[in-house]
Amino acid sequence: MKPKVAFFDFTSCEGCQLDALNLTGEELTDLLNAVDVVNFREVKTQREDNYDVAFIEGSITRESEIPRLQKIRNQAKVLIALGACACIGGVNCLKNHLPMEEVKQIVYGKDAKYYDTIPARPVNAVVPVDYYVRGCPPLPAELLKVIKALLLGKKPEIPNHPVCVECKMAGNICVFERGTTCLGPVTRAGCGAICVTSGRHCWGCRGLVDEPNIDSEKDILKKYGLTVEQVVEKFKIYDTYVEVLR
Ligand code: SF4
Ligand code: SF4
Ligand code: SF4
Repeated sequence: MKPKVAFFDFTSCEGCQLDALNLTGEELTDLLNAVDVVNFREVKTQREDNYDVAFIEGSITRESEIPRLQKIRNQAKVLIALGACACIGGVNCLKNHLPMEEVKQIVYGKDAKYYDTIPARPVNAVVPVDYYVRGCPPLPAELLKVIKALLLGKKPEIPNHPVCVECKMAGNICVFERGTTCLGPVTRAGCGAICVTSGRHCWGCRGLVDEPNIDSEKDILKKYGLTVEQVVEKFKIYDTYVEVLR
């Protein structure tokens, strides 16, 4: 019997699920031979409520999402948070900086009273999460790696060192040399430092490493004449749900 896998979207742009569909060729064929995808709204209309593994995309931003998520948790033997919104709250948590009534007014105007919204939170703030597939969006290869590990009965190995390690290995010149800030020193690697390699900096979409060396990040800021406030601005994009540098 192949394990039954289901994908569910909560508050999200659905980019994580779309990116999962970027698996192609042999990788996709191997995956579909190994698992039975029984629930994936972007791909198929038929749905089953009987599944073993649930992938959750998106963060929780409405009261009505809580019982829905709890029901999925009760059904699934394994629950996996898929993408930054699900793993760490992500961009949805930007609204947490404002009162919820104000947020509703900004988005819905005179119709605000018809909408329910609560401060955004990651999936693990509502139900236990077994594994995390990180990133905005996650790399399809990492998703595949996690599924393969589960099929082999192993714990998926996700890096717990900072993006800086991969950035140095890629031969990049540190963006601090250009006078800008970067969350690479405290962000979990696994993306190959793709943003720095592409000429930008790390926004922290994969979340913090376990036990981030905050003092080290502060030392770097000091060395380059930058302030904590400048880097906190960058944390707001993905990591509002955790406040680390204050
Ligand atoms: S993690 Fe990024 S790509 Fe995925 S749903 Fe959230 S905003 Fe979209
Ligand atoms: S701080 Fe950013 S740019 Fe500098 S090495 Fe680390 S990841 Fe690369
Ligand atoms: S470099 Fe940073 S922001 Fe870019 S993908 Fe990697 S973790 Fe995410």
